[in-house]
Order: sequence, then C-alpha cells, then structure tokens
Amino acid sequence: MLRVAVVGSGPSGVYTAQSLVQQSVVPGVRVDVLDRLPCPYGLVRYGVAPDHEKIKSLQQNLRAVLEDERIAFIGDVEVGARGLTPGRLLELYHAVVYCVGAARDRRLGVPGEDLAGSFSARDFVAWYSAHPDAAGDGFGLDARAAVVIGVGNVAVDVTRILSRGAAELRPTDVPQGALSALSASRVREVHMVGRRGPGQAKFTTKELRELGALPGARVDVEPADLALDPSFADPSALPAVNRRNVEVVRGWEAGGAGGADATDATDATDAERRIRLRFFLRPVELLGEDGRVAAVRFERTEPDDNGGVRGTGRYEEIEAQLVLRAVGYQGIAPAGLPFDEARGTVPHEAGRVLRDGAPSLGEYVAGWIKRGPTGVIGTNRPCAKETVTSLLADAAELSGRTVAADPLDALRALGHDPVAWRGWLSIERAESALGRSLGRGRVKIPDWAGLRAAARGIADRDA
Ligand code: NAP
Repeated sequence: MLRVAVVGSGPSGVYTAQSLVQQSVVPGVRVDVLDRLPCPYGLVRYGVAPDHEKIKSLQQNLRAVLEDERIAFIGDVEVGARGLTPGRLLELYHAVVYCVGAARDRRLGVPGEDLAGSFSARDFVAWYSAHPDAAGDGFGLDARAAVVIGVGNVAVDVTRILSRGAAELRPTDVPQGALSALSASRVREVHMVGRRGPGQAKFTTKELRELGALPGARVDVEPADLALDPSFADPSALPAVNRRNVEVVRGWEAGGAGGADATDATDATDAERRIRLRFFLRPVELLGEDGRVAAVRFERTEPDDNGGVRGTGRYEEIEAQLVLRAVGYQGIAPAGLPFDEARGTVPHEAGRVLRDGAPSLGEYVAGWIKRGPTGVIGTNRPCAKETVTSLLADAAELSGRTVAADPLDALRALGHDPVAWRGWLSIERAESALGRSLGRGRVKIPDWAGLRAAARGIADRDA
C-alpha cells in the first residue's frame, strides 16, 4: 500500500488525488488531501467569483473525488506550522505532492502602491469570497471611481463585481458583510487598464463579453487607444482567443455606448455604472491626497516590434479613490522546499521536486506552484497526470519504507486539530442554515472561529 499526502485541496490537489487512484495498480494507494483551511476546493471556493455559478458547480466533481473511499480530506492542517515540516511529512507518508498554488500577489513596484485605498485584487477577491484570512474593512467602496490595473481574468472578475448591482449578488453565496458593503458601494466608474493592446490582453473572451452584458452598466472604449494596436485593425494573425477578444472590443467600439454585446441588457443612456476599458497605459505612480490614493499616473505606451511596448514620455492621470492591482499571482513555497524566486515556482522535473538539481525521492509538485499561475482550471488535469506518472514510476522505491500507521495521530501529537470530511459537511449545513436565517440561499461563513465552530460542533457530537 502506497500512502500519499497531497498538500492543497484546490483543483490541482484534487485532480492529483484522482489521478493517483485512477492510475495506480495493485497493491493500491491511499491518499490524504491536506488543506490549511477547514474547507476544500481552494480557488474554486475562494477565487471563482460568486456570480460564476457554472464554474463554481465544478465543486460537485471535486466533491465526488474527495468522497472516494481511497481518499480522505484532512482540513485545518498547515504544512510548515507546529513542526509539520516537509521532512516530517515525508516520515508520515511514502510521498508528498505539493499543490499549494500561488498564494501572494505580484507587486507593481511603483511609488504610492501602498497608499490607503490601493489594494491587491487578490485581497479583494478573498474578501468577497469569504476567505477567513481576508481583511474585512470594506475596501473603500465610498470611492466614486476605481482603477483596476491589469487586463487578465482577475481584473475582469473584480471589475464585474464592482459593477454589479446588489440584486444580482444577493442570490449568490457572497458573505453578508461583503454583500452589504457592495450594495452600499458608491463606485460608478471602473477603469480597467492594460499596459499593452487589446490584441495582447490576457482575459478570455467569455469573461470579457460578460462585462458588456451587465444590467445597469455600460462599457466604453477609447478609439485612440485601439488605433495604436496594429492587430486591432487586422486581427487575423492573432491566436484565436486574442482574435475573439479583439472582435468583442471592436463590437463595443462600433456599437458605441454599451456596444453590440450589451444592447439587450443595457440602456446606454441610463447606465448607472461605467466600465472604461483602456489600453497602452502603464502605471508609473499612485498619487495621494492626505495619505489616500486620489489618482493613478500612467505613461502612454506604444507597441514595439516584439509583442511588447515602449514608453513614449507622455503621461495621463486617471482620478480614482480606489485602486485594485490585478497584475498576477506568485507562488510561495512551504518553508523547507526549494524555490525559484524569479519564477515563483518549485524547481521540478516532470513534477519531481529538484533539490540541488537532483530529484528528491518522495517529493512532487503539481498546479501553479509547479508551472506558475497560468491556465484555466482544466489545465490542472494534464499537469497533475504528469506528476502522478512520475510518482507512480517511483512507487516501488517509495513503498519500501515504513511510514506512520495513522498519520492523523501523528498530526494530533504535533498539536494540529484536523477537520475531517464530516466536519466540512457540517460547515456546509451551517452555511445553508445561515443563508436561511438571512432569507438567502447558502451564505459562506467568513471567519476562522465561525468555520471551526461549524466544523467541530457537529463533529464533536458525532465523536
Ligand atoms: P494574468 O492573466 O497573468 O494577467 C495579469 C495582467 O496584469 C496582464 O494584463 C499583465 O499585462 C498585467 N500586468 C502584469 N504586470 C504588470 C505591471 N507591472 N503593470 C501593469 N500591468 C501589469 O493574471 P490574473 O488575471 O491574475 O489571472 C491568473 C490566472 O487565473 C490566469 O490563468 C487566469 O486566466 C486565471 N483566472 C481565470 C478566471 C476564469 O476563467 N474566469 C478567473 C480568474 C483567474 P501583460 O500581459 O502586459 O504582462
């Protein structure tokens, strides 16, 4: 019997567990999926926006995997805390696969970045997703205008959430505090700003198109920005997704207010909120007034000949009292694992962790910590499969070692207090009850104490 720990229960962790039980042959495999949080599903629970119900429903697939009898979920166990080092973990299991994602945001590196009113989009996402580590101070939604820096899917998500009305968010599982703050939001203008052109933007077309279909909001584009991008006039040489993005933006330019995609949903003249999609502007400074952000200063850029941009020495300021920096995520490795700071990933060879350039027997990575924060959820499947293929090729060598008969006992002995699957199920029930008490559907519990009480209340009675 091969005993494997998977660290992280987001899509890459769950697909790794699934691939392990599917690919393994006799004498079989047992997989414990550990998570720092008492809740499973990683970014599907704490990253996918609450109004993206279809993507969120992926939880049902992940759930089916975690309910497999060869797989156990063990929540509220942090690797790196209370003596649970990678070395100790490897004494408890034959192999450990780290699927810990990319847990911090990239920095802009410009003056004023830390002014009050400037936040990483990651923190904003964590807040409206009820992540128990999120700061709960409401994110300055008394601002009239917001600037979102970056044109990836996270930028689109936060722009959309800022532009949605309360009526559309209420049926979602958004936590009550965030719903109240978003309902009271005074933000009327959201500028989403890219440093390159529409032909190079990182968002995907479905997500982009959705911005044009929000009730009560309209999308404006700036013809002078678009004219700078040679691929805007002729997108035929672009990769398919970029070409379709350009087509959507062209529709907005041609359609004027609200654009072609928004005509059903938006009465252009009555739109309460405006989304201004801007390109070829790179942030050089966040300008403050009385210690709070008041505007963002951008340098106008222009395309170079390599798909990048160069500065022009001309500047533009956009007034904003709220700035969300959506310029990508970066990995943090658990202490004790090797790390490539420049790439923000753990060095590996086909998923085998490399220590001093050589594969470290029993240690593996999958997901964003392996390949960087790119791709959609499904990209994690082949990534996990590659890692599991490497692990199973090492299985004979791995399984010769004696490991802990009951890793849970060992975790408790270290001072961890693991939440098992039934604890998670009781959190789900508590969230449904919370929603009922608020006259809503299921509503997420946003704090550690609430989650632990919900998990342990029932678990204790069952014990
Ligand atoms: P991303 O796709 O890498 O986009 C980052 C954006 O920030 C790009 O526009 C990038 O511009 C810009 N940027 C980076 N550094 C900058 C700087 N110093 N100044 C100005 N702009 C800068 O990252 P993300 O949006 O965080 O998304 C991460 C991953 O999650 C992606 O794979 C994404 O598709 C996925 N995701 C998917 C969904 C969904 O499917 N609905 C939702 C959320 C996230 P350049 O291109 O010029 O570098």
